[in-house]
Amino acid sequence: MAAKFNVYTGEPAGGSVPAAARLGLEPPRFCADCGRRMIVQVRPDGWSATCSRHGALDSKDLDMKR
Ligand SMILES: [Zn+2]
Repeated sequence: MAAKFNVYTGEPAGGSVPAAARLGLEPPRFCADCGRRMIVQVRPDGWSATCSRHGALDSKDLDMKR
């Protein structure tokens, strides 16, 4: 699935991703589908980010490599 927007900067996809974000330490702040600013909540064990149109994204949902 290709993101249309950079979830860390809100710019069109293709920009650079911060190193901390690549490591999964930084929560996304913008929706990849629409570029809206998301409501981000950081927890001790991860984060959740909610787009008012596309719903919530949770770090647990992305953690499929284990
Ligand atoms: Zn969205």
